[in-house]
Amino acid sequence: MRVVLLGPPGAGKGTQAKIISKVLSVPHISTGDIFMKNIREETELGIKAKEYIHKGLLVPDEVTIGLVENRLEEEDAGEGYLLDGFPRTLSQGEALLKHLESSHKMLDAVVFLDVPHEELLLRMEGRRVCSSCGASYHLTFNPPREMEVCDLCSGHLIIRKDDTEEAVKERLRVYESETKPLVHFFELKGLLRRVDGTKEIDEVTEDVLEALQIKV
Ligand code: ADP
Ligand code: ADP
Ligand code: ZN
Repeated sequence: MRVVLLGPPGAGKGTQAKIISKVLSVPHISTGDIFMKNIREETELGIKAKEYIHKGLLVPDEVTIGLVENRLEEEDAGEGYLLDGFPRTLSQGEALLKHLESSHKMLDAVVFLDVPHEELLLRMEGRRVCSSCGASYHLTFNPPREMEVCDLCSGHLIIRKDDTEEAVKERLRVYESETKPLVHFFELKGLLRRVDGTKEIDEVTEDVLEALQIKV
């Protein structure tokens, strides 16, 4: 299955993608995670991406589109994938559909996680992420078993550099102007499935699976 998880920053895309990709047995491809890994490893891509990410801006399409196209050509993505955080602009959306068309493949669905702004602010304020595997936690909504330690890999939990109040505001503004138009774009293609992202994590998972018509 080829699925896109679309939604504002802090909607729970990463949290859901980690669970859903296992159920679907497809790789979880997160552009955010790819950029963060490159920043940690101080690669050329990381150094370039960091300038934008820490300010709450999008990494330019010229960089992002090629990166994802190459990733989708890797062997593990042959039977499908779950895209988390890509596409984020109309150009990225068009590039993805063109890329699929050229290899005679189709997207199965775009799941839109709908969460209002007030809730997004609370989620990003309390977010902690694993510095080694990228898993997301929340101080009150989804706390780790042990303070500051990742349940999955025992990595150290940190606050994201772009979860500052200023960067969060900028990301929400960028989301409204650059990413939100994709909701309508995919609606017109008949691919959009809306899911209420304000429910508890496991309820959202159930609703996403139902939207994908997956029975577990
Ligand atoms: P995104 O990848 O869309 O930015 P995350 O998956 O990182 O979002 O989630 C943002 C924050 O909200 C994290 O702190 C996460 O633990 C928390 N969170 C995710 N889903 C829910 C939910 N359904 N209810 C409450 N908090 C949630
Ligand atoms: P969020 O939790 O805000 O949804 P991600 O972890 O998915 O964020 O991404 C972190 C940052 O990486 C974004 O704020 C953006 O700067 C950059 N980024 C991620 N995906 C893309 C993309 N598809 N296009 C451009 N920039 C991206
Ligand atoms: Zn971890």
